[in-house]
Amino acid sequence: MSAYPTTIAIDGPAASGKTTVGRMLAEALDYLFLDTGCMYRAATLAALDANIDLENETAVAHLTTQLNMRILPPGNQDDGRVYTVLLDDQDVTWRLRDPAVDANVSRIASILGVRQELVRRQHTIGQQGQVVMVGRDIGTVVMPDAPLKLYVTASAEERARRRWEDRRDQGHEDADYDAILADVNRRDQLDGNRRHSPMRPADDAIILDTTKQSPAEVVQHILSLLSIPKSVS
Ligand code: C5P
Repeated sequence: MSAYPTTIAIDGPAASGKTTVGRMLAEALDYLFLDTGCMYRAATLAALDANIDLENETAVAHLTTQLNMRILPPGNQDDGRVYTVLLDDQDVTWRLRDPAVDANVSRIASILGVRQELVRRQHTIGQQGQVVMVGRDIGTVVMPDAPLKLYVTASAEERARRRWEDRRDQGHEDADYDAILADVNRRDQLDGNRRHSPMRPADDAIILDTTKQSPAEVVQHILSLLSIPKSVS
């Protein structure tokens, strides 16, 4: 592949490194980066905050259509964030990582009305081009025409270890590896087996196993696929 693809779709399971890889790739290409997982997380947080019964799919879907959500560059916040997410102008970036959100997000993401609304918003962003979009269904549903589709994966144990390390780095010294591994496995099951847009690689996706590779190595590999001799650190 020699020309730059205008859109790059990256899918993969929780904590596979897809977000880090996607962000670094977007930076190297000077493309917009969109992590669609944060949109499902924001819908989940809003439903929890509003005390909506999460089994009431109509109510959750309706709330999602009303979400005043903005995703911005990190700005001058120096706390390790990759982007800033605002809900009704409140900065909820770190709250999106709360265990309560982890516990409920796959349930919320299985609701058809929620997906339709968020995919519509993602599609609008994708159409602007020059974007690296990361999620579970980007290559299959959101941007099926993306000229480059990647599926980034790693063993469940390695993914849990990375998530555990992230939580510790964020000051959660009580982070429990076994609980995180159980959550990773549970979300894999739910995301991979749901009725609407289950997580899976597109037929023409390139599969990248990052279990033994650093994000920089993976990005380097992707850039070499694009014949871009740029180095990243
Ligand atoms: O990527 P992240 O772990 O932040 O995603 C949180 C959850 O959002 C996933 O477990 C999945 O249930 C949902 N999701 C989705 N489709 C996407 C992105 C995320 O269903 N495109």
